[in-house]
Amino acid sequence: MHLDKTLTGLPWMGHAPGPTRISRIETDKTILPHLPLSTEERAGNLIRVCVAGGTSHLRTHVDIDLESGITKLEGVIAARECYRDRVTVQIVAFPQSGVMRYPGVLDLLDEAVRNGADLVGGIDPLEIDRDPKGQLDGIFAIAARHGVGLDIHLHEPGEMGLFNVQEICDRTKALGLVGKVTISHGFCLGGVTERKAAEAAATMAEAGVSLVTHGAGGLTMPPVEMLRAAGVLVFAGNDAIRDTWSPYGTGDLLERAAMIGWKADFRRDNQVEVAFDLVSAAGARALGIGDYGIAVGAAANLFTITASCVAEAVAAHPSRKLVLFEGKIVARDGAFLAAPIRIASDFVA
Ligand SMILES: [Zn+2]
Repeated sequence: MHLDKTLTGLPWMGHAPGPTRISRIETDKTILPHLPLSTEERAGNLIRVCVAGGTSHLRTHVDIDLESGITKLEGVIAARECYRDRVTVQIVAFPQSGVMRYPGVLDLLDEAVRNGADLVGGIDPLEIDRDPKGQLDGIFAIAARHGVGLDIHLHEPGEMGLFNVQEICDRTKALGLVGKVTISHGFCLGGVTERKAAEAAATMAEAGVSLVTHGAGGLTMPPVEMLRAAGVLVFAGNDAIRDTWSPYGTGDLLERAAMIGWKADFRRDNQVEVAFDLVSAAGARALGIGDYGIAVGAAANLFTITASCVAEAVAAHPSRKLVLFEGKIVARDGAFLAAPIRIASDFVA
């Protein structure tokens, strides 16, 4: 997701995103600095919404660019600090505007990692930067230097996208980053022949490169079931939630699972359970969250919901009755609790 971009908590603003990714990037720079709420306040608003929806762990990209430097990162880190006893937050230093197009961005990404970002991001090395070697060598060098992972937005279609999937996997293996690299979106995987998609899946599985999807509207869906069968760790997230790019999104990951299931034409219960796995256990594995799941002795991170089975919970996604984080009640009946309620240890025992 993108905590720094959200308009959550502000009165409704008309949405008029430009027709291209570049125009939306430029529009952000004219709107976000002039909002009446700071990055920290808007990020905090969305964190509360996500917690109320049962989210225990989230990963956010934060824009790093020449205009704003690392100030958005500082705002999101302040929000993370504020809610550290309700949710964990991983931050990706995200070069939304490009890397090689703007000399100085690589230095800012390095500065971001030294100042609290957990991963290095990237974006469309060919389409945005027209310099795949420059961008990928640059961001992988930062990740290797600091021992952190990468999460790279790859919107590029067809052969262009497949080329960069290969380049990302090659560098992941060469630098010993197997299991620490994610491709966000990967639309190309759903827009090429089955044979080429299968070859890319095998390459990703071998390199331990995971894929995150949000079931984007108007674009091809990566073949989730094929990728999983090939051994690729596929998971799902929200991406934009009510921001200058899109009016949609509520932060509810069960609703997101339903949207992905609808988009992927998952109709059988066992397929809906796959959609649920994408937003739960698979996501936890990709984020490196140990001690995950409902098991004796595991961390008490869970929610309760009125549904007879997982498929019903996804399809109907009623509000969460109780949300627990590390044994504390942090939300009740869909509402975030300003003061978490600690469950007595004798009750837990
Ligand atoms: Zn995104």
